[in-house]
Amino acid sequence: MMSTPLRIAGLLEHDAKWHADTEIVSRLPEGGLHRYTYAAAHQRARQLANALHRLGIQMGDRIGTLAWNTYRHFELYYGISGMGAVCHTINPRLFIEQLIYIINHAEDRLLFFDLTFLPLVEKLAPHCPKVEKWILMAGPEHLPAESTLPGLGSYEALLAAEAADYEWPTFDENTASSLCYTSGTTDEPKGVLYSHRSTLLHSYAASLPDCFNCGARDVILPVVPMFHVNAWGIPYLAPLNGCKLVLPGPALDAASLYELFESERVTFSAGVPTIWFGLLQFMRQGPRKFSTLRKMIVGGASCPPALLRAFDEELGIEIRHAWGMSETSPLGTVSTLKGKHLDLPADAQFFLKIKQGRVIFGVDMEIVDEAGQPLPHDGVAFGDLLVRGPFIASDYFGTTQPSQLTASGWFKTGDVATIDPDGFMNITDRSKDVIKSGGEWISSIDLENLAIAHPAVAEAAVIGVPHPKWSERPLLVVVRKPDHDVTAAELLAFLDGKIAPWWKPDAVEFVAQLPHTATGKLLKTQLRKDFSGYELN
Ligand code: ADP
Repeated sequence: MMSTPLRIAGLLEHDAKWHADTEIVSRLPEGGLHRYTYAAAHQRARQLANALHRLGIQMGDRIGTLAWNTYRHFELYYGISGMGAVCHTINPRLFIEQLIYIINHAEDRLLFFDLTFLPLVEKLAPHCPKVEKWILMAGPEHLPAESTLPGLGSYEALLAAEAADYEWPTFDENTASSLCYTSGTTDEPKGVLYSHRSTLLHSYAASLPDCFNCGARDVILPVVPMFHVNAWGIPYLAPLNGCKLVLPGPALDAASLYELFESERVTFSAGVPTIWFGLLQFMRQGPRKFSTLRKMIVGGASCPPALLRAFDEELGIEIRHAWGMSETSPLGTVSTLKGKHLDLPADAQFFLKIKQGRVIFGVDMEIVDEAGQPLPHDGVAFGDLLVRGPFIASDYFGTTQPSQLTASGWFKTGDVATIDPDGFMNITDRSKDVIKSGGEWISSIDLENLAIAHPAVAEAAVIGVPHPKWSERPLLVVVRKPDHDVTAAELLAFLDGKIAPWWKPDAVEFVAQLPHTATGKLLKTQLRKDFSGYELN
């Protein structure tokens, strides 16, 4: 067989040739809707690669982006990686100190940013001396009259000066292609460096029928941002499958998303539970229906059962619950049924669909106890979740720390999970969040999912608080929905019969809001600080 290296630019070359007229539609930060084709995207990615070459960018250099999901960000994905440099997507929702740390740690040479982030980059630039040029992802007419940003230029002006005659180089498929830092809820952010090979293998795997199941008849709208784990690989797997791509820009509110879903005839979307809760509320208010949307991936955090049920039963949308992390590229498991499950009663099917699901080929997983011994796949025993495979990180970028892998080459996810005999994995906690009561573990996620199903609860978090006898006991912290009331006793009664009696939280506290990370996940480290010294009666 030919030893053709797997290269990211090959995806766009394929589409320019075989899906030339398939569209990429983007809502822009500077306003308006932009529409062009894969053929045009390929031309502009080549112009960009010529520009990067002229600016002296070499193989392996890191180029930062602070940008929404738009066609220009898509071009950067391909232009930068395609020429052998590293596309470093940066999450603008991180705190400013984290952003400065990340840009300096990655040693980004250029930084491309959307108009929205002009005030932010003005603050960052004085602390990021290695960035040679800050490039606004818009036409020159949007450049500010005055600015202190070094080498400030416009993306459109940069491209306009170049021809589209760039020939994508061929190099080893293990060459680094992109870089993404995890949000670092506990430590400093850590960089995960992807390769052309890992990205292409992940794209094939994520396209499979039991995963995203995409084809050239699909129209994909990734709500998950391109600055968060490469939008779960969608900017790569859409071209791999010749899908039309709809990029929502900064407008992630339910009304704007719904408008795009309908006008662009979107069939498939992916995002975190918070986004889908907002959309659900909007759909109920109408009430509205989707004309073309059929399937959604929910991941990044546990999918509350109430969400899956509502989309399925009220809106006829198939929700697929997926699990992954930056270190797994990110797709690890998806909860799709096997043939033998189709005859099960609806409730039994639901019980499987709400789990985090089965591994895709390319990922292997195990659960182990505190001594590192394998635990049975009986759906009951829970332990530390380990994964390995060709698109799982072996280490972090630019670190001097010893390898994170176990002696037998497994990556420790930091999640705690069960695995059932059919291979369905169910996350019960992050290892840092699990509640250890009298030597037994209580899953904070299970308790949260149950509490959120109460009609008066907007959001719920469970943390362990010190207890003299049991060492730790669960405390349920709840945000009530506006204009709703519920007492602690009513909430605890609501959990009765749904959990083992000893899992029942010892107390309930009501708060106006819960702390979140920059990516919208519950920030339990902060919550534990907020409730430090909390005394159970
Ligand atoms: P960070 O560690 O910065 O939050 P990621 O965005 O990579 O990084 O998040 C990965 C983590 O998110 C996983 O380890 C897991 O704890 C959580 N997670 C992702 N998907 C799910 C899911 N479907 N259910 C429960 N937890 C999830």
